[in-house]
Amino acid sequence: MYLKSLTLKGFKSFASSTTLQLEPGITCIVGPNGSGKSNVVDALAWVMGEASAKSLRGGKMDDVIFAGTSGRPPLGRAEVALTIDNSDGALPIEYAEVTITRTMFRNGGSEYAINGQTCRLLDVQELLSDSGIGREMHVIVGQGQLDQILHATPEDRRGFIEEAAGVLKHRKRKEKALRK
Ligand code: ATP
Ligand code: MG
Repeated sequence: MYLKSLTLKGFKSFASSTTLQLEPGITCIVGPNGSGKSNVVDALAWVMGEASAKSLRGGKMDDVIFAGTSGRPPLGRAEVALTIDNSDGALPIEYAEVTITRTMFRNGGSEYAINGQTCRLLDVQELLSDSGIGREMHVIVGQGQLDQILHATPEDRRGFIEEAAGVLKHRKRKEKALRK
């Protein structure tokens, strides 16, 4: 399984339809400051169901829709399509290729589709839940987060690892129980 392509249409700074073809292995995106590199990563999180405007570096959800520039009027909708190669059957669906689409209108909610079939966010989450990708999997490390980890105290660093491993809540519970 690997991410095969990502198409952004009216998403943040990508007013015109833009497709990135990806290959198995590592992809690097390079470009000047403000050219839209982080917007591409935001699009990945968004199409997989990201529901927090803050995680998408915005104030409200419709900040992901192209807001216009001096030469180009704002758009009314944002659309992102992510195509995943599933020829190894890692995703629980009978297709060798899966395309997840999310669309959002300025005054409405989000619509999702899997291979062109309208579906719920829950269906997208279920599709991705055992794959190691998806919204809650801590697979997207934001700009600055790496610095935070490198400069953290050993105690904080242990906390990050415990959080990722899912043991933090159990340790908190244990500490609470021992205090009683
Ligand atoms: P850096 O190297 O500084 O991290 P970057 O390549 O990651 O830069 P981004 O943060 O992806 O850059 O892009 C920022 C640009 O996207 C800004 O110019 C901002 O105005 C533009 N942008 C963000 N949201 C929208 C939107 N809704 N409509 C139009 N442009 C937007
Ligand atoms: Mg950036």
